[in-house]
Amino acid sequence: MTALPRGTTAPQAQPGPVAGLLDNHGRRIDYLRLAITDRCNLRCRYCRPEEGVPFIPHPEILRFEELERLVRIFTTLGISKVRVTGGEPFSRRGCLDFLRRLKRIDRLQSLHVTTNGVKTARYLDELKEIGVAGINLSLDTLDPKRFWQITRRDYLAAVLETLYGALARNIPLKVNSVVLQDTSDQEILSLATLAEKHPITLRFIERMPFSGMTRVEEIINGDLSSRLQRIFPTITEEIQTITPTTARIFSIPGFKGKLGLIQGYSRLFCQRCNKVRITPAGMLKTCLYDDGALDLREFVRSGKTACEIGKEISKCINNRFVNGLAAEKACRREEEPSMSLIGG
Ligand code: SAM
Repeated sequence: MTALPRGTTAPQAQPGPVAGLLDNHGRRIDYLRLAITDRCNLRCRYCRPEEGVPFIPHPEILRFEELERLVRIFTTLGISKVRVTGGEPFSRRGCLDFLRRLKRIDRLQSLHVTTNGVKTARYLDELKEIGVAGINLSLDTLDPKRFWQITRRDYLAAVLETLYGALARNIPLKVNSVVLQDTSDQEILSLATLAEKHPITLRFIERMPFSGMTRVEEIINGDLSSRLQRIFPTITEEIQTITPTTARIFSIPGFKGKLGLIQGYSRLFCQRCNKVRITPAGMLKTCLYDDGALDLREFVRSGKTACEIGKEISKCINNRFVNGLAAEKACRREEEPSMSLIGG
C-alpha cells in the first residue's frame, strides 16, 4: 500500500475503558464494526451481482472465539461500542450466542446489530433480553415489486415483521435506505412516513463505489441534502455536538422520528470518524476506503499475546488516513469489492 503523509503523531493510546484511542489526526476511536460473515440471503443489485461473489472459505473466516478475543483486546484499548454486521449476521449460525458472549465483556458499553431483517424477527425477544442497544435495519423501499427489483428476493414481508417487531419491543431502531439512481421523490416520501409515524431514524445513504459496478455514484448522489430540503421544506438539521456520527440528522415538525443522511460517498464526515472495522476474514480497516491496515487473523493465529496485538492495533490507529478520499487515492483497486466482504 502506498504511504501518504498522514499528519502529525498524536498521543499514544492509553489502556482503560474511557481513556480511549486517539488517532494521528486527534480523532477519538471508540467504535468497532465487526463483520462476522460475508454470506447474505439478499442479492442487492448495488451490493453484489446476481450470481453472488465467491464466498470466503470457512477456515479463512474468523471463528467466534477469535472475534471475541479481538473485541476484548479492542475494549482494553478504548473501544466502547461494537456493531455486529456482515454480510448478513443472522446468516451465520451461532450469531445470537456470540452476541450474548460479547454482552458479557465488562468494558463494552453498547452492542448494536445491523441486519437486513429477513430472518431477524424470530430473534427479537432474545435480542431484547440480551440488551442489544439498537438495531440498524437496511430497507430501501416499501414497495414489494421494487424490493424484488433491488434485492432480487421476495422478503419484504419478513423485513417489515422485523421492523414492527422491534418497534413493539421498544428496541431502538434506525432504518438505512440506500438512494439509487432510480429512487424517486415519492419513494423518499414513502420511506419517510416510517419516521413520521414511529420513533425511527430513517437515514438515506449515498450509494458508494463498492461492488465492482461502474462509477456512476456522482450522478446518483447529486446533492442529496438539497434534495431532502426540497422534498421536506420544513426540515431542520440538528446540531450535533457530543456524539461523533457519520449521519447528519434532521427533524421535521410533526414527525415522531427523524430523518438522516449518510454521505459515505461525499465523505464529509471523516473529520468526525470514530470507527474502525474488522472484515469477515479478519482484516482491520481504519477507513472504509482503505485496503486493510492489519491482518488480525494472522496475528490471532500465530500465538501473539493480547499485549502484542494491542500494540499493533494502536500503531495502525496512529497511522490513519486523514479521510476516505486520501485512502481511496492510495489504495485504488482494479475492481471495488462488495460491501459484504468489508462489512456494511
Ligand atoms: N446485511 C446487513 C444489512 O443489510 O444491514 C449488513 C450490511 S450488508 C453489507 C448490506 C448493506 O450495506 C446495505 O443495505 C447498505 O446499507 C450497505 N451497502 C452495501 N453496498 C453499498 C453501496 N454500494 N453503497 C452504499 N451502501 C451500501
